[in-house]
Amino acid sequence: MIEKKDLLYEGKAKKLFKTNDENVLLSEFKDDLTAFNAEKKGSESGKGALNCEISTKLFELLEKNGIKTHLVEKISKNEQLVKKCEIIKIEVIVRNVATGSLSKRLGIKDGEILPFALVEFCLKDDALGDPFINDEHCLLLNLVSNKDEIELIKQKARKINEILLIFFAERKLRLIDFKIEFGKDKNGEIILADEISPDSCRFWDKDTNEKLDKDRFRQNLGSVKVAYEEVLRRILKDEK
Ligand code: 5GP
Repeated sequence: MIEKKDLLYEGKAKKLFKTNDENVLLSEFKDDLTAFNAEKKGSESGKGALNCEISTKLFELLEKNGIKTHLVEKISKNEQLVKKCEIIKIEVIVRNVATGSLSKRLGIKDGEILPFALVEFCLKDDALGDPFINDEHCLLLNLVSNKDEIELIKQKARKINEILLIFFAERKLRLIDFKIEFGKDKNGEIILADEISPDSCRFWDKDTNEKLDKDRFRQNLGSVKVAYEEVLRRILKDEK
């Protein structure tokens, strides 16, 4: 029986606790919402549980499709057991449609479908505002050990995108873009970590392009929880 022990780390959306198993941590999903590098703060009761369930379902889907992840199991409405790993300090962003910071930075029209899935990197560093970095910055800052690891991360990110694109298309959701994080497990293998949820993805309804993700919070569109519930409802569509 796994026991929850000391708090190891508190992030913006999750708390990470030690357990009585040194290789396993407990991830608790919080109701807090932040945007613009935590300049905008809020909370939505039940958001943590929704993200925990959504992320668990998506990690299980990815595992089934050959992507190794940190997920062990979901143990309560807002808690997961995860394999301990050393987080690689790169936020990997995959984009299928231009919006958000890509449109702002490069002037690509909001909503324009990209000719290929674009993979971008940000340095995971709140104090620096998560700046965009390239492959060479990753090496310069020793975020990875070598070029092969960068290629592996890109390859995994593209494969994850392909799996999720098909899954969400079947649920009438357009996967616009998303952010993922990887870690190295105790054997040094690169595995998917963190979460995949409406906090970290953009989902637009296939028919209406209604936003069903954290942009509802960022842009004060209201009905944040209703949108997250709708994403979960669609994810569960084939389950009883
Ligand atoms: P953008 O660069 O356009 O702001 O974000 C691209 C995608 O990555 C969006 O789906 C956004 O939700 C996600 N993303 C970027 N930075 C972060 C972050 O610091 N935390 C989370 N949860 N998601 C992020």
